[in-house]
Amino acid sequence: MILSERLEAVIGMVPYGSAVFDVGCDHGFVPIELVRRGISPCCVASDVREGPLRKAKEHICEYGLSQRIAAVLADGVPKDLSGLRNLLCMERETQLTLITAGMGGLLMQSILENAEERLSEFAWCILSPQRNPESVRKTLRKLGFCITDERMVLEDGKYYPVIKAGRADQGEEGAVFAADDELLSECCDRYGPLLLERRDGILLSYLMKEKKELVKISSEMLKSTHGGDAFRNVEERIRLCKKALEIMEVPDENFG
Ligand code: SAM
Repeated sequence: MILSERLEAVIGMVPYGSAVFDVGCDHGFVPIELVRRGISPCCVASDVREGPLRKAKEHICEYGLSQRIAAVLADGVPKDLSGLRNLLCMERETQLTLITAGMGGLLMQSILENAEERLSEFAWCILSPQRNPESVRKTLRKLGFCITDERMVLEDGKYYPVIKAGRADQGEEGAVFAADDELLSECCDRYGPLLLERRDGILLSYLMKEKKELVKISSEMLKSTHGGDAFRNVEERIRLCKKALEIMEVPDENFG
């Protein structure tokens, strides 16, 4: 099965041997590929809508994986984790990984928060938000996870962050946030602490594009004497973008 680069990046972060819960599985291709490639012994594919779940079940059947992938209708993280463990005959020591990809960051935030008491069951979370990645990073931190890996994928002209987080209380060492520097920590939440630290080339092209667009919007707003919250919001985003370029040691004059 040929997957998009975005989904390959998600799959590439799954720790070998962990069982995956793919929340918002839609077509079900991620769990199918994880089991086919021998990365996961078994998976749960869940979705809140019956249509996508039906498609996922059909695909799982086509690949003969119904014994190893449970398809579950659920809003957010399924509630009966131990029932699903039993259903899939998971070994007691099998670690769980939660995946959510291809939805907005605010929806992911509510999925994570609504599952707060079950999240301690997951050793890893892999998330690829399509908007508002800052909400995802802040929520992961609040819920006791630390960011251990990040990628930025550019596909068909769109940029997708992929974030991997591990449980801070299980000795995972993640990205360090400078909590005392508000602008720096806002910047890390929006663009990714590890992507910034690694001076990721795809993040850099995203920042250059974003800065150009924001500067254009800002000057058009000034011309039309458009002020207020919308203008302040654009100026704040320019400030964050410039800070990110500064962290990546890109001279400002190069990208005015
Ligand atoms: N994860 C796949 C990917 O990245 O290609 C599919 C993304 S698809 C755009 C988003 C899926 O999330 C849809 O199938 C939708 O029904 C599902 N979804 C939205 N809200 C959800 C929720 N609260 N719980 C579970 N699934 C949800």
